[in-house]
Amino acid sequence: MNITQALHKALRECPDALAVVDGTSRQTWRELGKQVARLAGGLQGLGMQPGDRVGMLAANSHHYIEYLYAVIWGGGVVNPVNVRWSAKEIAYSLDDCETRILFIDDTFLHLLPGIRENSSALETVVFIGKEALPEGTISFNKLVSTAPEIADVRRHSEDLAAILYTGGTTGQPKGVMLSHTNCVMGAVGASLAAPRPPRQVGLHAAPLFHVAGMQSVFGMSMRLGTHIILRGFEPAKVLETIEQHRIAEIFLVPTMLRMLLDYPDFKTRDLSSLRSIRYGASPIDLTLLERAMKELPGAEFSQAYGMTELAATVTVLPPSYHSPENRESGKLKSAGIPTTVAEIRIVDPADKELPNNQVGEITVRGPMVMQGYWNKPGQTAEALRGGWMHTGDAGFMDNDGFLHVVDRIKDMIVSGGENVYSAEVENTILKLPQVELCAVFGIPDERWGERVHAAIKLRPGEDLTEEELVSHCKDYIAGYKCPRSIEFVDEMPMSGAGKLLKFKMREQYWQNETRRVS
Ligand code: ATP
Ligand code: MG
Repeated sequence: MNITQALHKALRECPDALAVVDGTSRQTWRELGKQVARLAGGLQGLGMQPGDRVGMLAANSHHYIEYLYAVIWGGGVVNPVNVRWSAKEIAYSLDDCETRILFIDDTFLHLLPGIRENSSALETVVFIGKEALPEGTISFNKLVSTAPEIADVRRHSEDLAAILYTGGTTGQPKGVMLSHTNCVMGAVGASLAAPRPPRQVGLHAAPLFHVAGMQSVFGMSMRLGTHIILRGFEPAKVLETIEQHRIAEIFLVPTMLRMLLDYPDFKTRDLSSLRSIRYGASPIDLTLLERAMKELPGAEFSQAYGMTELAATVTVLPPSYHSPENRESGKLKSAGIPTTVAEIRIVDPADKELPNNQVGEITVRGPMVMQGYWNKPGQTAEALRGGWMHTGDAGFMDNDGFLHVVDRIKDMIVSGGENVYSAEVENTILKLPQVELCAVFGIPDERWGERVHAAIKLRPGEDLTEEELVSHCKDYIAGYKCPRSIEFVDEMPMSGAGKLLKFKMREQYWQNETRRVS
């Protein structure tokens, strides 16, 4: 099993079909294959040995896809860098997994001096850009044009293919080691669970450094689809591109879906080409999902649940459960059923399996489970104890085998001995049309240990009082789950993958206290 198999398949079956479109650049599979084989040759020329890590700090572009395949074709390991990180954080990750070669594009070039200053591992920098070559870097274009095409090194199924740093939503990022099998099985599982037709035109609007972006590259290639690339997520650009390229499939995190629906242009664009919309990577609130389904009636929606450590997806809620006949089933609130290759077990803190409908930690077993955290044997052993990946997510299985993700364990609030799932409270608050974003978390409380606190960002021009908010919550959820304190904010910290960074908001309240996480 090898990630490059998809590329070989495309080269055999449809070499002249369109593989990648990025602005005015258009590549057939044959052209992409050549570019990949050359870039791999160039990397070997730079001293890349099998198993060596190669970093990429860049916005989405056709070069990103070339990078992913070329490093792997040449036997290396990709290490896509989170574009939201500071120079110090980037240097930390490069040193952590000893990445000696880094590709960087013009967007992030200003970070290079800081990265160099803080990294001892970094030796060679390859610059992707049209401007004059920055000092001490090698030109990407020159590297490709002067290198020989090499044959695919084809490493073994169990060899490492990628090191991806976790999103950093909950703290210090860890380097997740993924093998070829992990990446292929993650993508295959996700594809089988809600099949999409081959040779569709798909849009990469989510960042390619994130596991979900990488999985869409591999998954779409397996189906010989055409990759349309956008530099980053900008609602106006996304809507325009869907119309222009007649995009059929797209992956969106819920915050992106919300931004598209809210965009003033949304209603004037022809989005009728959209066939498959997959969403996931963080909880979605039902109000948003139902609105999206109403506004985009021609599209099939499916949800994916997973994590970096699982080479992305392990459960999928297929399109059929998004149909009006199935809305009453309550399954729309779930994250779906395990993919064919994933086993899921809900356990208590002593790792004892819990019966259906009881909330515990979600654990996963299967060929997509990571090899471990790079250089962190203790945390690896803890996460993979008993052969099951402990996700750190709380959830339950219902009687029909659907997984319900209720919260991250670290985000659960323990107030007066009662568990409050922050995601449930957020879902309730987001029913209010005045609210654009909201984050619910626990803050110290002398009497209750923790109290439920809500940070709210209102839509522009909207008004909402604390009393209105609390009385709305009391209509839907028990009193102890309703926010005891509320703050209105103008901005909320977001991760590079478009997730709310609740730990950052929570942190300021806990500076002088220790938080007990059950
Ligand atoms: P870090 O591990 O560094 O804190 P992170 O967990 O956000 O960051 P990812 O691997 O990108 O990094 O995200 C995986 C997490 O995202 C899951 O553990 C889960 O909490 C959440 N998640 C993913 N998909 C869904 C979904 N469909 N519904 C609810 N939550 C989801
Ligand atoms: Mg995580």
